[in-house]
Amino acid sequence: IAAVDGADPSEGVHAFLHVNAEEALATAAAVDADRAAGVAMPRMAGVPIAVKDVVVTQGMPSTAGSRILEGWIPPYDATVTRKIREARMPILGKTNMDEFAMGSSTEHSGYGPTRNPWDLERIPGGSGGGSAAALAAFEAPLAVGSDTGGSIRQPASVTATVGVKPTYGGVSRFGAIALASSLDQLGPCGRTVLDTALLHEVMGGHDVMDATSLDEPVPAVVEAALAGAAMDLTGVRVGVVKEISGEDGGFQDGVKQRFEESLDRLRAMGAETVEVSCPSFEYALAAYYVILPSEASSNLAKFDSVRFGMRVEKETIEKTMLATRAEGFGDEVKRRIILGTYALSAGYYDAYYGSAQKVRTLVQRDFDAAFAQCDVLVSPTTPTTPFKIGERIDDPLAMYLNDVATIPANLAGIPGMSLPAGLAPEDGLPTGFQILAPAHEDARLYKVGAALE
Ligand code: GLN
Repeated sequence: IAAVDGADPSEGVHAFLHVNAEEALATAAAVDADRAAGVAMPRMAGVPIAVKDVVVTQGMPSTAGSRILEGWIPPYDATVTRKIREARMPILGKTNMDEFAMGSSTEHSGYGPTRNPWDLERIPGGSGGGSAAALAAFEAPLAVGSDTGGSIRQPASVTATVGVKPTYGGVSRFGAIALASSLDQLGPCGRTVLDTALLHEVMGGHDVMDATSLDEPVPAVVEAALAGAAMDLTGVRVGVVKEISGEDGGFQDGVKQRFEESLDRLRAMGAETVEVSCPSFEYALAAYYVILPSEASSNLAKFDSVRFGMRVEKETIEKTMLATRAEGFGDEVKRRIILGTYALSAGYYDAYYGSAQKVRTLVQRDFDAAFAQCDVLVSPTTPTTPFKIGERIDDPLAMYLNDVATIPANLAGIPGMSLPAGLAPEDGLPTGFQILAPAHEDARLYKVGAALE
């Protein structure tokens, strides 16, 4: 990896910010030795994995893509990191991402962009572009991602890989550097639905270190993926969400075509498809871009030059804090801190944050009504195939619009998957198919996804 990827950020895919070669090789060698000696070991032992840099890893740099955390080596492991180590999976390194997971293209990383292995001129999605690109470039078979508004599913879509955002609380967030705590969810990324299920099983489960962790067993995702591979969907009701399925414009022709073809395939396997309407989705994007900056502005207050990472020394502590934050944070992070601070300020709180929370409830009600009629809901994951690096960097609104189909799931806390839907005929680039299920029903994603794959 270091030779093809990590050496020079201006060349190649640049999926990794840090390559953990020595430790990964040592873990692999220990697994080999124990296997030769007949020692029993976990099912995923020896399978290498890449970890998004938002997840802390003891002894390895963890920057969340930000210069403000450059050089910080966490003294502890995230729960997910601990579980990966206990599963004896060699950690290949830390993957690039938009700074603090704010973005849809990985161009907002403080360490230079990641490129899409399908076309190096194009974005690999974001914020978890590094994890998705590592999979698509065959630099890792599995990766950890985080999804606050689509950062697992959207990169999966534009790199033709698989990504799952579990039910909120299904995977511990302890040790995941927080963006927006009510929306954040760690999840598995892979090249196939079954691989992704196997990682989901490793990552998931109750954790006393995370107050929002669900106290229930990991859903039977591996069994569901195996069942789905039989390609029989008799009795499964699939709802096509009108508002995010391309009827209202902004969706590329090839994306719509591949989506329709996937629906045909679901019907051929016995599924019944119905159209459902979720009228509040029209306001979901706007609500998200109030709630997320509000929570982020609060979460990022801890980067104060005293506790972690970078410090730009000035005459007084106030000046030191200001200078550190001015230098350490990138433009997109500053934009969102300003937006969030404004939305939470006295006199504006009800008008902005309060209204956004009401929309959030309406989105949840739309999902409840839709799931009363269907087992899963589907849409294209992203409106377009990957765009060119630089194309939307100066237009935040165009960047935010990318998330129109992925954000509702985060607002409602429900699970979602993106899997490849084929290349768009007009540009030969990946399109993605999104599947959503009710909270706690993550297994349904894997059954339908494995059937479709
Ligand atoms: N594009 C979304 C944003 O910029 C994705 C966030 C995420 O899922 N981490 O907020």
